[in-house]
Amino acid sequence: MPDLIDIPPVYLPYESQEPFKECLVCGCDLTSGNKDYFVEKAIKNHVEYGVKDVVFEYAMCTDCAETMQKSMSQESQQNMQNYFLEHQGFMTKIQKYQMGEGESVDEILSKCSISNESTERMEEYMIFGHFRGDKMVASTMPYIIGGAAMDEISELLSNQTLGEMNDFMGQYFGGPTELKDLWKGKPVFF
Ligand SMILES: [Zn+2]
Repeated sequence: MPDLIDIPPVYLPYESQEPFKECLVCGCDLTSGNKDYFVEKAIKNHVEYGVKDVVFEYAMCTDCAETMQKSMSQESQQNMQNYFLEHQGFMTKIQKYQMGEGESVDEILSKCSISNESTERMEEYMIFGHFRGDKMVASTMPYIIGGAAMDEISELLSNQTLGEMNDFMGQYFGGPTELKDLWKGKPVFF
């Protein structure tokens, strides 16, 4: 598998449909490819109408992601790590992917990476991926966390961590809206 592949359209900003240009937090330039970044999107899926809303979306450079991760409480970090370790299927999927024997990106993006529930049937889910400039870094497996798994993860996070996630939302995505309210108490980043 090549190291870099074309960015699946689902990871492009909803409005411009061009790769993210800067880090949400530090504002550094992401277009040159000098610094890798992650994209996270939260999707609300109106299953009965076949319509999807992007609740929020952003790109974060690897430096800011690291800082963010370190700021998470030890308890939350440990609980989250255990959660993923307990989900053997997810860990195996990642290992296979890294060895080049995993599912195709399209296949991965069609279902929750934890529960395998189809994205078409989930009312909400989050997608994550690793990018460099206008390419996706193919050695890191992209993944999707569905609503049910998100709820399980939220329960493992300390109040301190959940509070910080809410602050993060408030700071970068403005005041509450109906959609964003739905997302209250759910994990924002990993
Ligand atoms: Zn940054």
